[in-house]
Amino acid sequence: MGKAASVLLIYTGGTIGMMQDARSRELKPFDFKALSRQIPELSKFDIELSAIAFNEPIDSSNMHPRVWQELAKLIEKNYSTFDGFVILHGSDTMSFTASALSFMLENLAKPVVLTGSQLPIGVIRTDGKENLITAIEIAAAKEKGKPVVSEVCIYFEYKLYRGNRTFKYNSAHFDAFKSPNYPALAEAGVNIQYNYAALTKPNGKKLRVHYELNNDIAVLKLFPGISKKITSSIIHSPGIKALVIETFGAGNASTEPWFINELKAAIQKGIVILNITQCREGRVIQGMYETSSQLKKMGVVSGADLTFESAVTKLMFLLGQKLKPKQVQDQLIKNLRGELTTEVSLQLHQ
Ligand code: ASP
Repeated sequence: MGKAASVLLIYTGGTIGMMQDARSRELKPFDFKALSRQIPELSKFDIELSAIAFNEPIDSSNMHPRVWQELAKLIEKNYSTFDGFVILHGSDTMSFTASALSFMLENLAKPVVLTGSQLPIGVIRTDGKENLITAIEIAAAKEKGKPVVSEVCIYFEYKLYRGNRTFKYNSAHFDAFKSPNYPALAEAGVNIQYNYAALTKPNGKKLRVHYELNNDIAVLKLFPGISKKITSSIIHSPGIKALVIETFGAGNASTEPWFINELKAAIQKGIVILNITQCREGRVIQGMYETSSQLKKMGVVSGADLTFESAVTKLMFLLGQKLKPKQVQDQLIKNLRGELTTEVSLQLHQ
């Protein structure tokens, strides 16, 4: 008899599959066969497991939009064959990859679960085994013949999160990710408890994969005393199409005329400016304070409660579609893949 579900495991690299170089003591990626030998439990699942490993596994600090395109292609090619997908990935940039894939994979109706670990799988106290085993179980989970999860998620240390709501906040704890503005999609204890109300419902449309990404984006993180000279050089970076400004509190910034004039000039040149907050919890509300009113007036787009990771990848995705600046602005404030809480839905929850 066939197995209850099929899952494709895609191994990109990361600590989970690394081992320590005997001489230099550096952590380096090793091949997938060695990884699967470390987890004999994988063969006990009632799940048909197939694996694809990158020829050259990478530390996720070397992640690149090219690799996101490769991952999206693998998912598109194998979409009808498998019930779910697990991507093994370094934790450092996992939230960027999860966010990027969420935008690239429109109308997704199957689970794409990213996981990794803080300690390599060969280390006795590794967190990698539990993360991998439960991620596979989630990717295979079905109810009434339908996948329980149908979005891009991160599973790490007993929690399943919507990928585009996460960021890596701890480099030392097993509990490495946070999703401050959106609840966990599931929690694994004795059972896996799904938060059904928080899960995305598939829209019934055919999967559409967007491969074009454009990285002509700059980031300006504000701090008291930021200089005109440096601000100006960032805003006038050659080829820049969008600028993410990381502002204070609820989206506030200096009201100094030179700063306002620089931003205004950029918008007039057709550069899209997206305002996200340096606070990891809460949201941008332009117009709440005098220090954000001018931003709103000049046409800076409010990033609401977007993470930095989602802001950057959403811009890459939208710029990749060769939209006009106004169209990019219109899409930025829309909730495309569950990545932000619009003001309307906030009001509904009050
Ligand atoms: N440097 C590693 C990576 O992101 C860390 C990890 O895997 O957690 O690839």
